[in-house]
Amino acid sequence: MQLKTILNSLERHKSFVYQEARWADPQTKTAIEIPIQPRANSRAICSGCGQAAPGYDRLAERRFEYVPLWQIAVYFVYALRRVNCPRCGVRVEQVPWCDGKHQLTTTYRWFLAGWARRLSWKEVAEAFGTTWQNVFRSVKHAVLWGLAHRDLSGIASIGVDEVQWQRGHKYLTLVYQIDSGSKRLLWIGKDRTSKTFLRFFRMLGKERSGKLKFICSDMWKSYLKVIAKKASQAIHILDRFHIMQKMNKAIDEVRAGEARQMKADGLEPLLKHSRWCLLKRPENRTDKQSVKLADLLRYNLRTVRAFLLKEDFQLFWTYTSPHWAGLFMDAWCRRTMRSRIEPMKKVARMLRNHRELLLNWFRAKKQISGGIVEGFNNKANVTTRKAYGFRTFRAAEVALYHTPGALPDPPIAHRFW
Ligand SMILES: [Zn+2]
Repeated sequence: MQLKTILNSLERHKSFVYQEARWADPQTKTAIEIPIQPRANSRAICSGCGQAAPGYDRLAERRFEYVPLWQIAVYFVYALRRVNCPRCGVRVEQVPWCDGKHQLTTTYRWFLAGWARRLSWKEVAEAFGTTWQNVFRSVKHAVLWGLAHRDLSGIASIGVDEVQWQRGHKYLTLVYQIDSGSKRLLWIGKDRTSKTFLRFFRMLGKERSGKLKFICSDMWKSYLKVIAKKASQAIHILDRFHIMQKMNKAIDEVRAGEARQMKADGLEPLLKHSRWCLLKRPENRTDKQSVKLADLLRYNLRTVRAFLLKEDFQLFWTYTSPHWAGLFMDAWCRRTMRSRIEPMKKVARMLRNHRELLLNWFRAKKQISGGIVEGFNNKANVTTRKAYGFRTFRAAEVALYHTPGALPDPPIAHRFW
């Protein structure tokens, strides 16, 4: 069996013919070349308009990299024709195995992009003897294709989150679809301003935005504003994860302040190594942390009182009726406002200011299948960790769409990866 026979069964092009394969260099035998010729009497297709056009001239031979065979590089070799198109003028012809000025064939690009879902870009480049840039370009090509071909109909629930990336206060806005049948990253924007989030709604379009039923977010003001404006019909939910995150931040602030105070007053450093036993969920505490916590609870510290307030608040999430949950919250806020612990009072004020949006959590819980909201946050966390390492927004965007984006792949005859 010859290579061209295999190629013809993998991807046959009706206007082009594969020739005999040969070594690029018979001495080193490191690459295979497969020359291609246009089929006799076939007319070249203008790359400007996609129509057949009369020939003009022929460019020098070029190599187009194909999927390597047995770790041997494979190249198609072809001299592109130019056409004199009545509509576009003199243009280079369009060929089915490659588009634009790319050196890599389309199949090879999909091949690299497919592996880039399983391995890091660096590993893909090493495994297949190509460059990081080529892998990046291939993934970008797959992402652009996927974005253009994805189906955005039927989106009912979305979650928006800001994630920090790089050092300093740099943020990305991520929007996820969180419907039970379809969970995916929908959109990525630079920064976390209203302007950023407005761009998402522009992408989604008025009609689809009008069909949103649930939107999950944290209390970031810019997001709240945009949601109220662009999808007022949707139930807007402030979710558990973000609220508890705020509470943990408050406790941490109280602890740090009190520990400093105790040190200044020359008291025993009771709060040393107490950070994680105060912040972790009970099921995640180590034995040592549980002992430390039990010990700490014997003291009448502001930190301990703040911690107990948080623990009490956990009960809030177990309610089913928004009405009773609301009453519980009001009582909790009153108690906290009397606590004289400023960071916790700040949390209480914030909860009061967003009472309705918080109670929407219970309204939504009844209507959408459980775990969606939590699932969304898990996904966001994984993405955050991954996003942190990218140096440019473009690279982060491409990488994030490529995996959690759940973008479609093209229908092709042979799956190489
Ligand atoms: Zn044309």
